Amino acid sequence: MTDSDLHQHIEDIRRQLGRKLLILGHHYQREEVLRHTDLQGDSFQLSAAAAKADDCGAIIFCGVHFMAETADILANSKEKLAQRSGRRVNVVLPEPEAGCSMADMATLEAVERCWENLGQSINLGDVVPVTYVNSTAELKAFCGRHSGYACTSTNARSILTRALGTGGQKRVLFFPDQHLGRNTALRMNIPESQMVLWNDTLPDFGGNTDGQIKNSRIILWDGYCCVHQKFVPEHVDAIREVYAGIKVIVHPECRRDVVEKADEAGSTAFILKTVSESSAGSFWAVGTESRFVERLAMQNSDKTVVNLAFQPSYCDNMGLIDLPKLAAALDSVAAGDKRNVIRVDEAVAESALCCLTRMMQ
Ligand code: SF4
Repeated sequence: MTDSDLHQHIEDIRRQLGRKLLILGHHYQREEVLRHTDLQGDSFQLSAAAAKADDCGAIIFCGVHFMAETADILANSKEKLAQRSGRRVNVVLPEPEAGCSMADMATLEAVERCWENLGQSINLGDVVPVTYVNSTAELKAFCGRHSGYACTSTNARSILTRALGTGGQKRVLFFPDQHLGRNTALRMNIPESQMVLWNDTLPDFGGNTDGQIKNSRIILWDGYCCVHQKFVPEHVDAIREVYAGIKVIVHPECRRDVVEKADEAGSTAFILKTVSESSAGSFWAVGTESRFVERLAMQNSDKTVVNLAFQPSYCDNMGLIDLPKLAAALDSVAAGDKRNVIRVDEAVAESALCCLTRMMQ
């Protein structure tokens, strides 16, 4: 099929399925895929939409695996199933290999090992695990079982504040993204001397001494997003030399030294809002995934919006979904088969829902 045939085919099936189908698309998806979605957003906005999708029979989630898992957990909770007399809303990921390298950096086994190891140094009753939503359902379940939280890049600060307790007497084990954890804690005036980086491949306490662990308030997992890690402070200097007066806005998954050099830092939703609401004629250099930046530039043609780095930084996993895969997912849903349906184990989903619910509350 040509691209134009595929577009037509997708539209025909969408028309045929009507409200029985919801297509969600993450901001980092390809443009040709996003034009067929009912809603575009960041991972949590899309999961929240999935949680409200009571009328539809299936959701096609154009994103990566952990997002489809979260959508399944929220859309098919015990409460939701009871309201729908047991009817599930199948969540389909058009490309099951679309994972997330950051989420893969913290496995359940490694985090459990860390937890046990920490217990040899400090009282685990004082440690609250917090997982970025960019993580597997198993890790959200771990947090659910240990009175922990999930967080997004939008609410990381309020979740960390809550997790540390009213007098700040608790400690936080934050995974998988060290940069979001560090940048958020710094904004809360927690000095880096009270943070440790836990590297599961190193001996002792993840490469730290007993004293460092005892002195820490934030234990950061040594994970990162390869898309955001590519930005370096030199990019900020270089772009300011080319465009005098340009404003630099970056995602908090970027390194500390990049965030500190930038004018603004915040979630994808924050970047979208800030740039869109800025005055005509303003100049922005954006340090986040490049498909999103390119779309932002198109949508804000009265402004100059450029990538922070001269080389674009694309998320390869997000790029795995293309028109043929979206069309195949629609064919499956129309045929009623279960191809590429993401279904989280029931016990895992139940514990993961606890930590997601705690976050939303
Ligand atoms: S941009 Fe980074 S965190 Fe997001 S899906 Fe891609 S690798 Fe994962």
